Amino acid sequence: MGCDAAAVAALLRAGAATIAEHRVELTDLDRPIGDSDHGENLNRGFTAVVSTLDTAVPETPGGVLKLAATTLISKVGGAAGPLYGTAFLRAATTLGDKSELDAASVVAALQAALAGVVARGKADVGDATMVDALSPAAAAAEASENNGIAGLLAAAADAADQGAQSTVPLVARKGRASYLGERSVGHLDPGARSTALLLRAFAEAVR
Ligand code: ADP
Ligand code: MG
Ligand code: MG
Repeated sequence: MGCDAAAVAALLRAGAATIAEHRVELTDLDRPIGDSDHGENLNRGFTAVVSTLDTAVPETPGGVLKLAATTLISKVGGAAGPLYGTAFLRAATTLGDKSELDAASVVAALQAALAGVVARGKADVGDATMVDALSPAAAAAEASENNGIAGLLAAAADAADQGAQSTVPLVARKGRASYLGERSVGHLDPGARSTALLLRAFAEAVR
């Protein structure tokens, strides 16, 4: 299947659906190590993304991702809003005005998203943030590029799941959870979990 603007809009709708479904779980993850709002924040943002897509779908995949980025930046707030917004914006910029995505461009978009999150939030792998999910996901996507868009997104989602789980024994070094120091150990990072959920939804939507 060709991955045009409509297909990318469908991925975002699938992402919004998974965030809505896991809203309470994400907020519960944010309770012991944060301020109990991650699920609400993302659900507000992705609900707004779906509303804007209901009005009009931009002509290119990059245009769709840019619209998602600006919507997330204005609606999500907190730490995650600018971070996810930057991720989608960098992905959009990398795609330029291509009208159809191939596997290589999806890999490039994931790598750009990671670079954007790192530039914005300055987290390294091992700091117990969404970077712990997104970084292995981008690497797995690159390694699976020959498997096509569905295959590379499935590999990215698997790697993101593992990466999210890897945050449990870590001391958080960025964001609100870092205020807890050693007491942040033993908790799954909510942003890493939401990144893994989004990638799984994208992988399943593209199949
Ligand atoms: P807030 O902490 O402002 O309430 P959210 O609860 O919506 O924002 O999002 C928290 C998530 O944001 C964390 O679980 C973590 O994954 C991510 N995060 C926070 N700071 C950073 C950072 N500097 N770099 C990468 N990710 C971060
Ligand atoms: Mg929070
Ligand atoms: Mg908050």
